[in-house]
Amino acid sequence: MFTRALITLCAVFAISCAVSPTGREQLMMMPESQMAAMGAESFDEIKKKTPQDTDPAVNAYVRCVADAITSLPAVRKESASWEVVVFDDKQINAFALPGGKIGVYKGLLSVAKTQGQLAAVLGHEVGHVLAHHGNERVSQQFAVGEALALIESWMAVKNTGSRHTAMAVLGLGAQVGILLPYSRIHESEADRIGQDLMARAGFDPHESVALWQNMAKASGGQPPEFLSTHPSHGSRIKDLQAGLATTVPVYEQAQAEGHRPQCHVPVPR
Ligand SMILES: [Zn+2]
Repeated sequence: MFTRALITLCAVFAISCAVSPTGREQLMMMPESQMAAMGAESFDEIKKKTPQDTDPAVNAYVRCVADAITSLPAVRKESASWEVVVFDDKQINAFALPGGKIGVYKGLLSVAKTQGQLAAVLGHEVGHVLAHHGNERVSQQFAVGEALALIESWMAVKNTGSRHTAMAVLGLGAQVGILLPYSRIHESEADRIGQDLMARAGFDPHESVALWQNMAKASGGQPPEFLSTHPSHGSRIKDLQAGLATTVPVYEQAQAEGHRPQCHVPVPR
């Protein structure tokens, strides 16, 4: 229903729309060049605030896994060169930004314990970028902003008290930002794209299931930061298991074609 309404909106008002890699209709109001600029700016901010990890073994390992993913044609098409930075921080988290930026917090390596599990995280993060989830989210926020402006001007003719109440309710949580938590739709789409990417790069897609099992275990106490920007839901592991039927043959094909990444897990110190 929402999709049909969106298509009508796109046709009538000439709003920019797109179709995600999984075939979902999307609202896209920002030029991709603008998203890339925002991504680069955010990345610089994070680099200024967070110390980078200087351990050569850790950097080589993360770079090895990231390279296997970013050298895939679909990922290169998004950005020809990807900057990868390991942050010296205990956070169990990672992110990818438009404009070809990948950040990995060292703490993630305590949960993503194998090269395949790290590839599952990076595939998922790059999946968000490939599906332009940032653009879609900002566009949705713009749409919310436009709607609020309309309501405000309409209510301006009514009494001021009720107008403020309505604005407070409607405006609640309507923030624009590219590091906000993702929606469930974006999460499961990134899971699907990520599992496909890791398989194409020659990583065993079973590792994506193991990763989320580790995440679940790690969230026994304080939930990992990854879960605060990536809300978990019960069906995630089940969906990834179901995805194996299509991604295992892709993985076997990639291995047969010589895509056999051998990234050496650094010894923790
Ligand atoms: Zn995500």
